[in-house]
Amino acid sequence: MPVKIAKAEKYDVKLLTPLIRDAIEALGLNLRGKTAILKPNIVIPAKPKSAIITHPAVVDAMINVLKEIGFEDIVIGEGAGLGADESSVFETSGYKKLDKKGVRLVNLNKAERVEIKWKYDTLKIPKIIADADLYVNLPKMKTHGQTTVTLSMKNQKGLLSNADKMKFHKWGLQEPLVELAKVVKPDLIVVDAVEAMEGEGPLRGKSKNVGALVVGTNLVEVDMACCEIMGINHNEVEHIKIGTRENICPEKPDLPGDIGDVKTSFKRANENYGHILNVYSWRNPYACSMCIDSFSLAVKSAVRNPKYWLTFIPKFAYLALFKRIDIIQGFHAKIPDEHGRIICLGDCTKKIAEESGFVYVKGCPPKSEDILEALKKAK
Ligand code: SF4
Repeated sequence: MPVKIAKAEKYDVKLLTPLIRDAIEALGLNLRGKTAILKPNIVIPAKPKSAIITHPAVVDAMINVLKEIGFEDIVIGEGAGLGADESSVFETSGYKKLDKKGVRLVNLNKAERVEIKWKYDTLKIPKIIADADLYVNLPKMKTHGQTTVTLSMKNQKGLLSNADKMKFHKWGLQEPLVELAKVVKPDLIVVDAVEAMEGEGPLRGKSKNVGALVVGTNLVEVDMACCEIMGINHNEVEHIKIGTRENICPEKPDLPGDIGDVKTSFKRANENYGHILNVYSWRNPYACSMCIDSFSLAVKSAVRNPKYWLTFIPKFAYLALFKRIDIIQGFHAKIPDEHGRIICLGDCTKKIAEESGFVYVKGCPPKSEDILEALKKAK
């Protein structure tokens, strides 16, 4: 099945609706049924223009097309990342207003689940996905510090229960994404690449204008096409490389037409660490994204909260400018060769913290207040 690239200049529902309709027609898809589930990427509550999340205008347009076809019961489902404020996911991200269109917004972290068999024994997926006539995967095109890119394969991680999300990281993340792609297959994929994210994705990168929607049905093939647009060799993306080896996609993405005017070059995330001045947060494939990003989210929350302006902020500014702090997290966390004072984030690092006498912040993932307290105490 080919992949269609539709040029989309802006987030205008009137513009996006015919683009999606035409792409489905060009792909020759016969989408029929009554119930549909749409799975955007809303890993944390974030404003639509932040480039962190699938823009609600894309989902709005998708709903229009499904209603035209005759779908009656349409659900938008997302299970935000570990530690995200689930209560404000749909409100902050501009999705709440879509319930006026008669669709239901469902927190997949609380959804009823059914067990399916997969390589690692059994997996619990939302019943709503298993039961729906149509499952549409609507990822955001972003770079990612652990997996190089986050596209349709990675977006499926939001279907998992929190317990399975954590297990994914224990198993190494990339291979489980491929195994998930073998057992949960969307009927349609629409990637939001109107405003994508480059650099320190998935949460701290910069907006990158691509001006396109990427539409297809095969997870690996669509992600390969996206890599081509991003100027990233798909063989450098471990889960896509494994996917091609496992024969769950064609050898090359079938890209109709010339993609010359949407092809670009994305800055990648630093795959070793992220840093703010002299505070380094080390990447680890066995750490959950919410642990990796909990540090920068904690600093952001302190900047917004007057309670910390006279306490944490001066202290942090001093440490970041004149000292060095290294933050490690996740299973199998390693002590970097060169480091300053080490802070161990999250329950996974308790052992290494105890053995080496490092500062330890409990939690799974740790709470912002606890991280800020640990930084305040760091000498
Ligand atoms: S402590 Fe962090 S890395 Fe470990 S399981 Fe919890 S969220 Fe994941």
